[in-house]
Amino acid sequence: MALEKHIDSDVVIVGGGAIGAVLALELDRLNYSVAVIELRTPTFASSDPERVVALNDGSRCYLESLGLWKEIEELGLGDIHHIVVTEPGNRGRFDLHASDLQSTDKEHALGYVVEMGHLLEPMYRALQASSVELIAPACIENFELLEDQVSIQMRRGDEQLTISSALLLGADGTYSQMRAMAGIDVFGWDYNRFGLVASVTTERGHQETAHECFRSSGPLAFLPLADGRFSIVWAATPAEATQLLAMDDEAFIYALQKAAGASTMSKLGAVTSVSKRASFPLELTIAKSFAQSRLALLGNAAHTIHPVAGQGMNLGFRDVETLIEVLSHAKAQQGDAYCDPGQSILMQAYAENRRGDVMAVAGFTESMSHIFGSSVPGVKWLRGMGLDNLSRVPALADLLLQQASGLAQFKQFKRPEVNHE
Ligand SMILES: Cc1cc2nc3c(=O)[nH]c(=O)nc-3n(C[C@H](O)[C@H](O)[C@H](O)COP(=O)(O)OP(=O)(O)OC[C@H]3O[C@@H](n4cnc5c(N)ncnc54)[C@H](O)[C@@H]3O)c2cc1C
Repeated sequence: MALEKHIDSDVVIVGGGAIGAVLALELDRLNYSVAVIELRTPTFASSDPERVVALNDGSRCYLESLGLWKEIEELGLGDIHHIVVTEPGNRGRFDLHASDLQSTDKEHALGYVVEMGHLLEPMYRALQASSVELIAPACIENFELLEDQVSIQMRRGDEQLTISSALLLGADGTYSQMRAMAGIDVFGWDYNRFGLVASVTTERGHQETAHECFRSSGPLAFLPLADGRFSIVWAATPAEATQLLAMDDEAFIYALQKAAGASTMSKLGAVTSVSKRASFPLELTIAKSFAQSRLALLGNAAHTIHPVAGQGMNLGFRDVETLIEVLSHAKAQQGDAYCDPGQSILMQAYAENRRGDVMAVAGFTESMSHIFGSSVPGVKWLRGMGLDNLSRVPALADLLLQQASGLAQFKQFKRPEVNHE
């Protein structure tokens, strides 16, 4: 017979990925009791190939403010000080250097390539030291949104758990069960592309440079890893991806070098080895609503965008920052009185604050893939001209640098003092 247990918690977070974990830490600091429900047993071991994310400098500042960055850095990451954008077979080339930043900190890198396990491990260590209750592996069976609370039923092994909470946060990724169960529709489309990932060694190493090669079938990115290799993300058609996954290493290396083009390969030197390969479907999925009374969506549950600009995780951290800013201010205004975190006015404030940033990043990412997807001869010529000229317009290059580094979008709000009695 299943054991039954009831838990009361101010906030329940579904999904213990990086977004759910950071969210839990932030809410714990605001003195809310928090439960995190995660489908799988958390693991931080390296995968083969490594699953990495490129974080911008805005995300670094944010994780530093949470006291997590030092440990992430110690576990090892690749710095990006230089980004080179090319289109194989076309003349243009665009260079972004961290040292070109006019208006902000020149000391830091433009971005950092971090293994998912290295990102999660310090977060989970901090969770263990906090009052957050982690329920994993567990699966949600049902939930009911009432006027003043949420009731969630779930199963963990033999245990049947019910949690009553004031707020339910869906951070359960692209195929969010919470979003579907709340009846929130999405818009977007399947790109009919797969993101093929692998790690490669090249003769000249990476010299802290990321290369983005825009091909008509989709971009191919080389991201510098801590150990001198590159992690590649290659957007390929389904037929191309099937072939690439089935090839032996020698054939794959040949295809990769050809796809990257002569200009990029002259900088990298020949590819000398390749890891296992894996692939992920690429899609655009944006929730029609990011929140309703007693429920909010964050991270990929709210928006999944094309990895062309490497912005998904960065956007997710900004969701967390915004929600915490809204809750902190509401809490500060209420003084010592309990501040109900699931009030619809707070949920609306969160949703309204996030829509603009998400649509701007999704729109920019979409236009990049459309401009580079066009094979119309005039457009191809303009692309070459455009890439060359971008480098010669300092204000425009600086704007792009600001976007790439993500420093402009993080608010870095000053957290009001919270009484931790
Ligand atoms: C190929 C590729 C390359 C990328 N590169 C970059 C990059 O360079 N930079 C960048 O910023 N972003 C990048 N992204 C996007 C980035 O990986 C995501 O935006 C980010 O992982 C989203 O984090 P999340 O915590 O919202 O979701 P996830 O990382 O998907 O985590 C969701 C968590 O919820 C759990 N879960 C799922 N369903 C349930 C359920 N029903 N109940 C309980 N738990 C559940 C899952 O087990 C998981 O732990 C890339 C994506 C891809 C596919």
